[in-house]
Amino acid sequence: MKKTIRDFDLNNKKVIIRVDFNVPVKDNKILDDNRIVMSLKTINYALDKGAKVILMSHLGRIKEEKDKEKNSLEIVAKRLSELLNREVKFINNTRGKELEQAINNLNFGEVLLMQNTRFEDLDGKKESSNDLELGKYWSSLGDIFINDAFGTSHRSHASNVGIASNLESGIGFLIEEEIEKLKLATDNPEKPFAVILGGAKVSDKIGVIKNLVDICDYILIGGGMVYTFLKSIGYNIGNSLLDSDSLEFCKEMLAKYNDKIILPVDSIVSKEFDKDITLKNNDCFDDDDIGLDIGQKSIEIFKNKLKDCNTVIWNGPLGYSEIEKYSNGTKEILKYLSDKDKIVIIGGGDTASAAINFGYKGAFTHISTGGGASLELLEGKKLPGIEIIDEK
Ligand code: AMP
Repeated sequence: MKKTIRDFDLNNKKVIIRVDFNVPVKDNKILDDNRIVMSLKTINYALDKGAKVILMSHLGRIKEEKDKEKNSLEIVAKRLSELLNREVKFINNTRGKELEQAINNLNFGEVLLMQNTRFEDLDGKKESSNDLELGKYWSSLGDIFINDAFGTSHRSHASNVGIASNLESGIGFLIEEEIEKLKLATDNPEKPFAVILGGAKVSDKIGVIKNLVDICDYILIGGGMVYTFLKSIGYNIGNSLLDSDSLEFCKEMLAKYNDKIILPVDSIVSKEFDKDITLKNNDCFDDDDIGLDIGQKSIEIFKNKLKDCNTVIWNGPLGYSEIEKYSNGTKEILKYLSDKDKIVIIGGGDTASAAINFGYKGAFTHISTGGGASLELLEGKKLPGIEIIDEK
């Protein structure tokens, strides 16, 4: 078991908390502050226990100097200050005297946010390649390290693995909850157990299929992935998404797990994304049709399989759900699952955005905050940002 923030005496300690403030920002406005809200429990806990709290996070990608302006964490500090209802000191640096003095001058029970850790990437990708000197330097700023950034815990960066290699460490409440909830699906899930997979590419989901196919009862396939599966068994898929490198894998899986892997039988198709739509069965595609959502018969088949399942994990939207006319399959299955007494876990990334945007924020057992990280856990992989944390 990993140490958690509760395992430390935080009073009069300098506590570095790696949070995930990688929020969507447009025209200097935060479009969705969910990730900031999700970090409050850990920050408030440390402050209440009398710690000096030093927050670190990345925001976006920094490849050139001009990326810095639109990826400054200054607006996040303002929003955090409103949410915490207290001052959050923002330091526009990732190292140096100003940062060190600000930490010295901070009182216990006060909080500071350092500038975007990825500003260090301009100088030889120091943050993203876990530069040893940088991890050591950042760790010298605190006494205890708490990792609460689930969304980056599948990466080995200086601001998670680097710091934890040099300091006593634990996980925060958000990561603790992510692990606990995702385990409901990966460790002895209550059966029957269904896995819903959608999204664009089969290749991104091969690891999950391999890891879960033997422990689940059904894998329901939706999204752009469908068409590579259909093509592998001889259907004409027109101009639908095709992941040629995965054809052989799909064919093998369908041959071996014929009763488990459930494919849609119909699709909403269009000649072009913004043109008229038609409902077509799998064997009726024209050469210029693009499959963009699962059809009504498929939705009913999916509901029927899900009816008796006690655990459901879902990663990837069932259609091109960013566009209203292709969002029906995703919405109908979200609605169906939302009022059932089941363990329902929604993976991060696009699936989490769809669930939240379509109004199902509090409707499930768990909506993950990490797309890549939750996918890697479902693949049975160890996450380096969590592995490095001290054992109890
Ligand atoms: P992923 O990151 O692999 O989970 O893919 C998510 C993306 O797949 C989202 O942008 C979806 O809109 C997209 N997607 C889902 N279904 C389709 C489809 N039938 N054709 C093209 N893109 C799709």
